[in-house]
Amino acid sequence: MFIIIAEIGKKHNLPYHCYMKKQGRTFRKVAVFDIDGTIFRSSFLIEITEALVNEGVFPPNVRSIYVNAYRKWLHRRGNYRDFIDRVIFAFEKHIKGVPKKTYLKVAKKVVSFHKKRVYRYTRDLIGELRRRNYYLLAISHSPKEIVDSFAKELGFNKVYGWVYEVGSERRFTGRTLYSELIRDKARILKRAVEKNGLTLRNSVGVGDTETDIAFLKMVDKPIAFNPNSKLYRYAKRAGWKIVVERKDVIYKK
Ligand SMILES: [Mg+2]
Repeated sequence: MFIIIAEIGKKHNLPYHCYMKKQGRTFRKVAVFDIDGTIFRSSFLIEITEALVNEGVFPPNVRSIYVNAYRKWLHRRGNYRDFIDRVIFAFEKHIKGVPKKTYLKVAKKVVSFHKKRVYRYTRDLIGELRRRNYYLLAISHSPKEIVDSFAKELGFNKVYGWVYEVGSERRFTGRTLYSELIRDKARILKRAVEKNGLTLRNSVGVGDTETDIAFLKMVDKPIAFNPNSKLYRYAKRAGWKIVVERKDVIYKK
C-alpha cells in the first residue's frame, strides 16, 4: 500500500509526505533510539554472553577470548570497541548448536535482571515522547530477542536487533540473518518510515557511538548522548545537541 502511494507521489513529483498530506493523511512523528549505552547502562551482548557462561551453556573458557581486551579497556589502555568486538567473536563462535529454548530462558533472566538499569535522561525523554504520541523505534546491534523484550517494556513500537538463524532441532546454526540491513541503521529507519506511515518532520534520534551517525543524520533533532570520541567530534562539527549524564547530573549543550 505505502509502496504504491510512494510511487504515486513520485509520479506527481512530490516527496512522499507532501503527497500524503495533500491527500489529507496525517503522519505519526518518529523517534529513534540506539539501546546499548544510550538507554541501557551496559551492553546486552556482553550481559547475555556472561549469563550464558554463568549458566553453563557456554564453556567457562569463553571469557578468555575477551578478558584481555576487557582489562585494557578497564585500565583505560584499550578502547571499548576492541572489547565489544572480542565479545561478538566469542558469542558468535559459541552460539552454534545451542537450543533456542535454552537461550531464550537465559535471555529472559538477563532482561528481567537488567530492565531498570537505564539512564535517567533517555528514560525521561522516552516517557515524554510517548505522551506526545511519537512512534518509538529502537535499532540495536545486540541480539533481537533480548532487545525486543527490553524495549517493548519501555513502550517502543518496533525494535530491530541482530537475528541469529535457527536450524534443525531449533538450534542456532551460528549464522546471522539480514545482517546487511541491520548493520545499516539509516536503511532501517527509512524502511520503518515507509512501512508504518511515519514522517521524519520533527523526528528525534538518540545515539552514543559513530554507528548511530547514519540515522542521526536523517532526523530533525539529533542528540549525541554520552558520545564516544568519534560521535562527539562529528556532533560538534554538525552542531548537534550533546548530552552527558554522569552520576546524577545531566549536562547539556
Ligand atoms: Mg550504543
